[in-house]
Amino acid sequence: MSELRYHPFLDTWVITATHRQDRTFHPPADYCPLCPTKPGGFPTEIPLPEYDIVVFENKFPSLSPNPPEPAVSGTDLVPIRPSHGVCEVVCYSQNHHATFATLPDEQVRKLTRVWRDRYVDLSTRNGIEYVFIFENKGKEIGVTLSHPHGQIYAYPFVPPVLATELASERRYQAEHGRSLWSDWLAEEMAGPRVVAESETFVAVVPKFARYPYEIWVVAKGDLPTLASMSDEQLDDLAAMLLKVTRGYDRLFGFSLPYIMSMHQHASSRFHVEFYPPYRTADKLKYLAGSEAGAGAFINDTLPEDSAARLRECMS
Ligand SMILES: [Zn+2]
Ligand SMILES: [Zn+2]
Repeated sequence: MSELRYHPFLDTWVITATHRQDRTFHPPADYCPLCPTKPGGFPTEIPLPEYDIVVFENKFPSLSPNPPEPAVSGTDLVPIRPSHGVCEVVCYSQNHHATFATLPDEQVRKLTRVWRDRYVDLSTRNGIEYVFIFENKGKEIGVTLSHPHGQIYAYPFVPPVLATELASERRYQAEHGRSLWSDWLAEEMAGPRVVAESETFVAVVPKFARYPYEIWVVAKGDLPTLASMSDEQLDDLAAMLLKVTRGYDRLFGFSLPYIMSMHQHASSRFHVEFYPPYRTADKLKYLAGSEAGAGAFINDTLPEDSAARLRECMS
C-alpha cells in the first residue's frame, strides 16, 4: 500500500508506504543488491557483469508512476491521493567499497551529467512538482546498503522545507526588490564562514547553521537548476562536492556520514546542503524534543568555529 495523506495542521502530505515493510527475499549474507551481477551468481538489481553509473526505479517505491488505489478514502479535511511520482536509485560506481569522496574525479564529473539528465527528464513529467536529488550516507543515517549510491524522488507536491524556502525567497523579493540568495551570499562571502570557493560555487557554513558541521554549496551567480548549467559549471560542481566530502573525511579521521540534499527550482538558486550527524568524533547529534517536536534546532557549536576547522580540512 502506498498513498498520500494530507496533514491539515502542517499543510503538507505524508507518504504511507507499507509495502516497504514486507520485502520477501532472503539474499546470501554477503549479498549487495547494488553490485553488478556476477556470472552465475545471485541476481542483483543490476543484471550486468559490470557497470559505470546506473539509475533504476526503486523496487519498493514510496512514489510510483502507476500508484495503487489508496487503502482508505479521504475526506475534505484529510484528503487522500494516490502516491504518484518516481523514486530512483543512482549507483555511483560498481566498486562496492567506494564512497562519493573516494570516487575518481572523472566519475563524479560523469555523475553530474547523470543528475542533470535525470533532473531534466523527471522535472518535465506531468504531475511532478519537485525533483529532489539526495544521498543518505552511513549507518548513523539509517542506511542499510553501504554501496555508494544516492536517490532521486520526484514528488507530486512541493515538500515543506522547499515550500518554506521558496516562499521566503518570494517574500524577500517582494519586500526588497532583490534576491535573498544574492543578498545573503554577499554577506557570507565577506565573512568568516566560507570554507572553499571556486569560479561558480562557494561552500559556506551558514551563519544560521542547524547542524554542527553543516555546509551549503551555493551557486555564486544566477543558476537555478542543474538544467541551467554548462558542462564547465558541472565540472566545477563535481570538484566542489569532492572538496567538501573529502574535507569531511579529514575532519575526524573517518569516512563521515551525512545527508546531502540538492535544492533546485526554476525560481530559486541551485545549492546543495550537507548535514553530518556528528557533533564530535564520538558524539552524534540526535533530533530530539526541540528539533523533532517543535522544529527548533539547537546547535551546540559556533558556525564560525566549525568553518575554521573545516577550512583547514579542505586546504
Ligand atoms: Zn555493492
Ligand atoms: Zn535549501
